[in-house]
Amino acid sequence: MKCQVCRDKAVISSYNGTFCAEHFKKSFESIALDTIKKYKLIEPKETIAVANSGGKDSLSLLYMLSKYYSKSNNIMSITIDEGINGYRDKTIEIMKEYTEKFGVEYKIFTYKDFVGKGMDDIVKVRDGIPCAVCGVFRRYLINAAAIEMKADKVATAHNLDDEAESMMMNLLQNDLDKIARSGPRSGVMDQDGFVPRIKPFVFLSEKETMLFSLLNGINAIHTPCPYAGFGFRGVISKKIKELESLSPGSKKSLVLKAMEIREKAGVNGSKPLIKCRICGAPSSNEVCDACRLKEELLAV
Ligand code: SF4
Ligand SMILES: [Zn+2]
Ligand SMILES: [Zn+2]
Repeated sequence: MKCQVCRDKAVISSYNGTFCAEHFKKSFESIALDTIKKYKLIEPKETIAVANSGGKDSLSLLYMLSKYYSKSNNIMSITIDEGINGYRDKTIEIMKEYTEKFGVEYKIFTYKDFVGKGMDDIVKVRDGIPCAVCGVFRRYLINAAAIEMKADKVATAHNLDDEAESMMMNLLQNDLDKIARSGPRSGVMDQDGFVPRIKPFVFLSEKETMLFSLLNGINAIHTPCPYAGFGFRGVISKKIKELESLSPGSKKSLVLKAMEIREKAGVNGSKPLIKCRICGAPSSNEVCDACRLKEELLAV
């Protein structure tokens, strides 16, 4: 297998091409930079807060944004500490090491400060799937953290596999509100109290992102969360990978199709957002999910 540009030994062959290490890095960066330009994800002088878990994807995103945008923009890093012993404490150490290396300012926001309990305490007092609570608090805290850091946008390292899986799930569950958040820019760009989300890696696969991180010396060891469950997403993920190997380009088509549906449905989805009665954050209900869960947990 030879690089399609220089004929050297190739390290990857994917829908985007067959490349040696150097040409792969160039191709990867040019796809991410083109996504940023085409969808106007970053404007000059904006403050961009990277949601940084300390994993390979978010560290690669931080590396790339600090490489190309640190002169024209203020690039920062936000990490959410869910309070999961043996998991998040390890990734926080990795996050600090690389974030300092890239010369980016970081801040850590914890569930403990917000709700008085970390996930290790929450799972002891609440039945049900941990990820359902965890996901609500993480989304809420990323937004609150971005507001506190006066960020104009939050950049997340969602890749093509993540996005294709989410879109397939949302289509099967007929969830127009979530479809409204699809694509490189969040569907609610202009909502007061909501810091818009951008996803520069949305057209790059998990495999490409992993290789990019390794080739750039980012050795973020993957430690699985002890509460992770595969459920419906796991089945969808397997099916999408099968689909991609049968018909390369399927993941990208699925994401583009979901974006088209979003455009036709209107950018804000089916429900207009109102202000949460308790915290004032944008919400589809009188009390937002984070405040509802927080009240529930403070009562036990
Ligand atoms: S796997 Fe679930 S519980 Fe663990 S950090 Fe992710 S959302 Fe939270
Ligand atoms: Zn080459
Ligand atoms: Zn609220």
